[in-house]
Amino acid sequence: MSAPVGSDRPFLNRRLAAFGTTIFAEMSALAARTGSINLGQGFPDTDGPAEIAEAAVRAIRDGRGNQYPPGPGVPELRRAIAAHQQRFYGLGYDPDTEVLVTAGATEAIAAALLALLEPGDEVIALEPFYDSYAACIAMAGAVRVPLTLRAPDFRPDLDALRDAITPRTRLLLLNTPHNPTGTVLTREELAAIAELAVERDLLVVTDEVYEHLVFEGGHTPLASLPGMRERTVTISSAGKTFSFTGWKVGWITAPPALVSAVRSAKQFLTYVSSGPFQYAVAEALALPDPYYEAFRADLAAKRDLLTEGLTAAGLRVFRPQGTYFITTDISPLGEKDGLAFCRSLPERCGVVAIPNQVFYDDVEAGATQVRWAFCKKTEVLREAVDRLRAL
Ligand SMILES: *Cc1c(COP(=O)(O)O)cnc(C)c1O
Repeated sequence: MSAPVGSDRPFLNRRLAAFGTTIFAEMSALAARTGSINLGQGFPDTDGPAEIAEAAVRAIRDGRGNQYPPGPGVPELRRAIAAHQQRFYGLGYDPDTEVLVTAGATEAIAAALLALLEPGDEVIALEPFYDSYAACIAMAGAVRVPLTLRAPDFRPDLDALRDAITPRTRLLLLNTPHNPTGTVLTREELAAIAELAVERDLLVVTDEVYEHLVFEGGHTPLASLPGMRERTVTISSAGKTFSFTGWKVGWITAPPALVSAVRSAKQFLTYVSSGPFQYAVAEALALPDPYYEAFRADLAAKRDLLTEGLTAAGLRVFRPQGTYFITTDISPLGEKDGLAFCRSLPERCGVVAIPNQVFYDDVEAGATQVRWAFCKKTEVLREAVDRLRAL
């Protein structure tokens, strides 16, 4: 049995060899070991609405969802997802044939890519990538083609997108609002992308888990553009919108032929998941507008607080239009390598952040970028800002 010299994972196959451990594991362990404030991993430090947590408890007590729920998801949740798409975007989806509940957005991404791609197909994805994209494309045996978002604006280069499309391109993998840059694609950008998708007959998988965290203007689902509904798999999740990331309730909305394809892959991944939580998320989606407004306003204020603090600490801040992350440039501090910077940061000031370079194939393009999560309590962010003054 031959393993690459020095490999600590001799049994990992070639498709996954490059995806050993995620940076989040390393940095969260570092945070725990040094007692640092963890602005690395993007999970809220406050749970979502108490009445929604109660709804989950009630579902368990009432015996709803304690056994395998239906493969596509419980009807209450599928109806609530369809109603949500209608209420916020005027998009009509049939809860029985055009909605599929998944184990978080993570499974939705995996199932969509495993179901829709043939080995060798090319997938164009916005770089920096959310960390599961590259691994899932690899598991599908497909080839990722990055469309790099570059500082300082992190806008997609639409000419580069046109040039990147080849006869082997099967699918565009989008993410708006975009983690980690905070870019929210404009209607014009979405329209240009849509036009290319129609012209070149591409499928689109769009990860919209931060749909309710757009700070200026609103969120435009790609599926709402002309010609897109029939070729788009839209992904979202309860984790980010309702601050229950541990529940792992996600979903796709798409036309019946795409839903049934994704379901074929999904049934052999988890089959089903999160039974009682599905009932609770159905109630969450129906929360009145003030919930969504307060959620966004709270995070907008936290964005401003951390933006100010990072600026005062001497970093260049790229103000995010959406998500709960801020990307910064550390070069004004005389720093050249984000990974080294993040590894030394706990020692220097007791804060943990994530180097964006791990989300790039083109490591140079992200070498000096560092990401900070602001989905934390105000006093935690204040303390972090205080500590960062030591830089
Ligand atoms: C958090 C996140 C996910 C994963 O969502 P889950 O519902 O927790 O699986 C997917 N995509 C992006 C861009 C994310 O930030």
